[in-house]
Amino acid sequence: MRVLIIEDDPDIASNLYDFLEAGGHTVDAAPDGVTGLHLASSGQFDCIVLDIGLPRVDGNVLCRRLREDARIDTPVLMITARDTLDDKLKGFEHGADDYLVKPFALKEVEARLVALHRRHTGKSIQRALTVGELTLDPRTLRVSYRGNDVKLPPKCMRLLEIIMSQPDRIHTRDDLEQAAWGGRQQTSDTLRTHMHLLRRALTQAGGTDPVETVHGMGYRLSAKASGAGSPGASVGNRP
Ligand code: CA
Repeated sequence: MRVLIIEDDPDIASNLYDFLEAGGHTVDAAPDGVTGLHLASSGQFDCIVLDIGLPRVDGNVLCRRLREDARIDTPVLMITARDTLDDKLKGFEHGADDYLVKPFALKEVEARLVALHRRHTGKSIQRALTVGELTLDPRTLRVSYRGNDVKLPPKCMRLLEIIMSQPDRIHTRDDLEQAAWGGRQQTSDTLRTHMHLLRRALTQAGGTDPVETVHGMGYRLSAKASGAGSPGASVGNRP
């Protein structure tokens, strides 16, 4: 998993960092709320460990801004020294997914992050997909195109999964926004930017863009570029 740690206590941050990295995760860290919000808003992470007491922007405000302004639904595990019911309720109201009180066991942090991530992806991605030379396996978070690995941010992966799940269909912008962002209002730029990132990554991996724009309607898989005889001809679940 790609994990972001937002914590100003250098000891706690480095313990978390080292433990998670040793567990095979890709870890990034931010020592204050402004840096944390900036990194979290990129949408490049599978989950976020968020301290409540932070300089510049506190954890509750950060979480709310992440959900409401940046429209990022990455799972957030809040950590704090406060452990009253009110504090917990406040965290959940601001959009946290889980809550852990200091001091905590590093193993428990990891276990909760794995559970949050599983729940989050389980909601969206259920099965492995293959269309022509394009494959997406949600269990390993791997996408490959023409035999080459494709690195994608979570939202781009979600968009590709939606398109691959019904490759014959033209997917309208509304449909994609609804499925990827849960119906929250997005500017058309958000979808366009993610589609651009997705198509660029696929083109770099396979030499051609397997997604085509259907003018005025939306997007679909291109039969030729995805390597399928006709779109959907070789769609199937991998065991
Ligand atoms: Ca703190």
